[in-house]
Amino acid sequence: MGDATADLDRAPSPSVDDRVRLFANASVFTARRDDPWAEAIAVRGAAIVGVGTSADLRRDRPSADEVDLGGGTLLPGFVDAHNHFLSTGESLASLDLRFPTVDSPEALLRVVREAAATTPAGEPISGFGVDNGKYALPSRRELDDAAGDHPAHLFHTSGHHVLVNSVVLAAAGVSEDVADPPGGRFERDADGRLTGFCLDTACGAVVPTDVDIGSHGPNFHVRASIDTLVAAVARASAAFLEAGLTCVCDAQVTAREFAGYREASARGELPIRTVCMPLSHQLGSFEEIGFAGPFGDDRLSIGHLKVYADGTLTGGTAAFGEGTGVATGDGSFFHRPDDLVALIERAWTAGWRVGVHAQGDRAIAIVLDGFERAMHATPRLDARPRIEHAGYPTLAGIERMRALEAIAVQQPTYLFDYGDEYHALLGDLAHDLQPYRDELDAGVRVVLSSDSDVSTYRPLTTIANAMRRSTRSGLVLGPRHRLTLEEALFAHTIDAAFAVGLEARLGSLEPGKAADLTVLATDIRDAGPDDVAEAPVVATIVGGETRFERHQP
Ligand SMILES: [Zn+2]
Repeated sequence: MGDATADLDRAPSPSVDDRVRLFANASVFTARRDDPWAEAIAVRGAAIVGVGTSADLRRDRPSADEVDLGGGTLLPGFVDAHNHFLSTGESLASLDLRFPTVDSPEALLRVVREAAATTPAGEPISGFGVDNGKYALPSRRELDDAAGDHPAHLFHTSGHHVLVNSVVLAAAGVSEDVADPPGGRFERDADGRLTGFCLDTACGAVVPTDVDIGSHGPNFHVRASIDTLVAAVARASAAFLEAGLTCVCDAQVTAREFAGYREASARGELPIRTVCMPLSHQLGSFEEIGFAGPFGDDRLSIGHLKVYADGTLTGGTAAFGEGTGVATGDGSFFHRPDDLVALIERAWTAGWRVGVHAQGDRAIAIVLDGFERAMHATPRLDARPRIEHAGYPTLAGIERMRALEAIAVQQPTYLFDYGDEYHALLGDLAHDLQPYRDELDAGVRVVLSSDSDVSTYRPLTTIANAMRRSTRSGLVLGPRHRLTLEEALFAHTIDAAFAVGLEARLGSLEPGKAADLTVLATDIRDAGPDDVAEAPVVATIVGGETRFERHQP
């Protein structure tokens, strides 16, 4: 009983102005392929009602209130199709261990020591962004000295690994004779002793979680109260709006994230449109109640089911095949290859759209085996299979992706943040990582996303990095795969909306669609990547409501 009043308890959304507003004096990117640029749009309440020239719109709606955009740029609100929303909120309140803020073991220890000095005795210390591709990790003894009696969880920048101190290992009951779990590893030093660095599924043993995800992915689902989860959602929402995002897809959702988003929504604290990709360990539970996505509305929905194939390129556990020079064994897989194919087929048959994390060509080939088997057994018109990251698809793999209409959901900022390490690891093969040009030429839909907090959630940085493909040291990886500004904008708006299943409601500026708008101070239509990256976001509007506004000095 009492459920009937649940909707009445929901916080009312702020009223949306019902006057017609005409946004003019800007370069307007519509994200319509047949007509990508316009001069102005008209908005009534929550919806777009007109797109075209300023003169036409003024003539048709003479009583409209005109909003002068000062010669800037108006875009559809950016859609981030692969982002760890709640984790990003947590990372914003944790120690920032990202490079170059932390660029040495000494710098890492210094940050931990300072945190230990100001954190109440015995309370945990948590940090995000450890990047041992750029420096050696401190020894476990050094970390123990720095962290004192505080349990310390220092997450790797990939989100797949965690460095912990002896306090954590002891509390978790992990001793020197521990065995590596399937799909994971406890790193050991030259003497065979645990270093405290736990890779992939080994994180599950040392991270205090309420969620047992088995060997279905890295477990960063740290135990937290509902108020802490809602606060993390609110913190990330504010940051996303300031960056121009209006819709974000969480690419790894468990009971913890569902609770956080549902409660934030109920309290009126979920201004960002949110799409959830439930992690595959929950498939059986969904099957029991006859549930499959997509489900929900354009505010909060369940989209694709998320499955993991291999590990992380950044953390060195991606699965490459023969002929690449970096072939890896089955140890990099979360599931045995046959089991992975069966899992994909099972989810597909249950009615799910499926998105699979796959980095190396070997992993991608097995995922495509799964999609092909599933499509053959249970043909579906609009299955929209997604490959998350798609780090190194071969030309043959790209052709198979085209035939399946599989979407490549990629992260160009990886190339900046980690590209130098990729080049050191893979040699010339690194030039064909995230091969946008080959994919587009073949007719594969390319989607740009952040994988925040692995890389920055700022869409303009993501777009600039797709245009540059430059590493931190200035090496350009595969210059022929660079995107034009327009290609990158499509990939972060309408094609991203397609990847999250909301293209009928948002992602482009067209009459009848939601008035999700991002306004930039400058005109980027002919801008190079540096000016794109620096363009200030001055307003972000979701469903006609201004949710962020930068007040000019
Ligand atoms: Zn991710």
